Amino acid sequence: MVTTKFARGLALAAAALGLWAGSSPSASAQQMLNIYTSREPGLIKPLLDEFTKETGVRVNTIFISNGLEERIRTEGQNSPADLILTVDIGRLQAAKDYGVTQPVKSDAIDKVVPAAYRDPEGHWFGIALRGRVVYASKERVKQNAITYEELADPKWKGKICTRSGQHLYNISLFAAAIAHKGDAKAEEWLKGVKANLAKKPSGGDREQAKDILAGVCDIAIGNTYYVSLMLNGKDEEQKKWGEAIHVILPAFEGGGTHVNVSGLALAKNAPNKENALRFMEFMVSDDAQRIHAEANSEYPVKAGIAIHPTIASFGPLKADTVPIAEIAKLRKKASEMVDRVGFDQ
Ligand code: FE
Repeated sequence: MVTTKFARGLALAAAALGLWAGSSPSASAQQMLNIYTSREPGLIKPLLDEFTKETGVRVNTIFISNGLEERIRTEGQNSPADLILTVDIGRLQAAKDYGVTQPVKSDAIDKVVPAAYRDPEGHWFGIALRGRVVYASKERVKQNAITYEELADPKWKGKICTRSGQHLYNISLFAAAIAHKGDAKAEEWLKGVKANLAKKPSGGDREQAKDILAGVCDIAIGNTYYVSLMLNGKDEEQKKWGEAIHVILPAFEGGGTHVNVSGLALAKNAPNKENALRFMEFMVSDDAQRIHAEANSEYPVKAGIAIHPTIASFGPLKADTVPIAEIAKLRKKASEMVDRVGFDQ
């Protein structure tokens, strides 16, 4: 009796120390993954559950809505962060610029993710795409095609709504305009858009649809997935905003629709690097691409994966081909341009 009790006590002590047979400290460490993310936990949960089911790796998410890269830099070498999962090239590039990422070389990722949606040095890659498009009043706007250039046409005077010009979604769009037109013409264009605004920029993308319903403006700039969130969500008010608009996929003259990414980066001091790499490759698998696109109403980055029906209803996406790493380099210029034209005044 005494012996059994003693043996059990020994086993518990050994397990606590990570010495139990088959669970050396390194093996138990391999069963974990820490993801720092700015994404709503509910939106990524189905993915994490699937990953755990397939690999047995337990995933901890640390939700940080802002300043994710500063946090990791402050934590330094002891940072538990393995992966950064966030949206917008602005945030992914910020993580790289802060020096909190490390490069990844993976044929599985390179095969699925077009080069335009990857950092040339391997510090981040897109897992899904979102278009920055035009929301148009169903009642008052009958046209079904538009260029970004047309947003500066005086025919829209007093009819356009948008969130702040300094918001990262708009900065990326304006940076894309610089990539297409050069500095001077892009600025002239932005002045034209500013002159057409119905009101001082404010709110998020969804509020612009609300303003269209209220008759404040006829068209607005917004991201594709919000339309699905409004139409398919539980909020009855937002459903009305979504129903008031139709989506036009705009294009740059000689180009396509501006898209941005949600993406992944490997943290510089990732303590569970193996698991992080497994998750990165899992994210470009058909299963994960499908689950992610369904849960987030984003375009899968992998060709041939089903698109959410609401998003598909906008018509075929012809994405712009300027690599988003190039757009990222022009973000600072775009931000200064926004200030110069007094876009938010
Ligand atoms: Fe968003």
